[in-house]
Amino acid sequence: MVAWQRSHGRHHLPWQRTRDPYRVWLSEIMLQQTQVTTVLGYYERFLARFPDVAALAAAPEDEVFGLWSGLGYYSRARNLHRCAQEVVARFGGRFPHTAAELATLPGIGRSTAAAVAAFCFGERVAILDGNVRRVLARLLAYGGDLAVAANERALWTAADVLLPPADRPDDIAAYTQGLMDLGATICLPRRPDCLLCPVQALCRARAGGDVERYPVRSRKLRRTAQTLWVLLAQREEDGAVWLHKRPARGIWAGLWALPVFESREALLAACPSAAEPQDLPAFVHVLTHKDLHLHPVTAPFTSQQPAIEGSWVDADRWPALGLPAPVRRLLEQRA
Ligand code: SF4
Repeated sequence: MVAWQRSHGRHHLPWQRTRDPYRVWLSEIMLQQTQVTTVLGYYERFLARFPDVAALAAAPEDEVFGLWSGLGYYSRARNLHRCAQEVVARFGGRFPHTAAELATLPGIGRSTAAAVAAFCFGERVAILDGNVRRVLARLLAYGGDLAVAANERALWTAADVLLPPADRPDDIAAYTQGLMDLGATICLPRRPDCLLCPVQALCRARAGGDVERYPVRSRKLRRTAQTLWVLLAQREEDGAVWLHKRPARGIWAGLWALPVFESREALLAACPSAAEPQDLPAFVHVLTHKDLHLHPVTAPFTSQQPAIEGSWVDADRWPALGLPAPVRRLLEQRA
């Protein structure tokens, strides 16, 4: 795995050319649930604005959310910001060097902590993100249901056992990166390219001719659906829109958003002074665990304002705010 990563693995990604824990940590958080090609632009913009952990810690939350806007999963942005503040407050602005200490910070799970410790400080410690879980489960033909915590723990133990020997400390970064690269480019969820795989001769799932059976995970997320009416109130004289900051819990927590209502009647009650509210085409926005059926309604205002918490935000200000993706899309369509 180490030799293969050095000759055939990925080396071109910007966060691979550094051992700066701030940059590695930032990339690891961004890469959770987001494709590399999407992350590249966000990563560069974040670093241009927040070149180090102190700059990120000192930034207003709205600015962090604004730069994160479009990456989704905003709890990551919130934890990113809190983590930077804790690194400054608890560790004097320097990331701790061990996976155990890193894992005490907000938003840093066991695997992310291990990746930062291995890449930046050479700690001999295992990772088990989604890609690596798939690689190892196949390599070992591990049939335990990974929805069961004890089975997940057993795979962690196997990942520890497989680490390169302790007397070759330089290998851990290449090994860790190699597992990630293999999972991202060859050992894909569907139709893995086993002929190109450096560990094909060792792979028990391949020997059994049933690679896609692994990893086994029985419990699926239970999806729910919710219908919301979205008020797009716009001031006629200058095009400003009515936005409010969402509470810290629930959907779109902490983001700036258009007001939403459980019924059309409730929405109309909030804009008695608007001239002729109009329905826009409804659409579905898919979250991890929920389908949001959104019914936007535009309402032009002249002198009055909606009877719901919020404020007018000028057309040159809202693009920089942290907005949920469907709200941003709606506003862009009306701009
Ligand atoms: Fe994955 Fe195939 Fe390699 Fe096994 S041989 S680890 S299934 S790519």
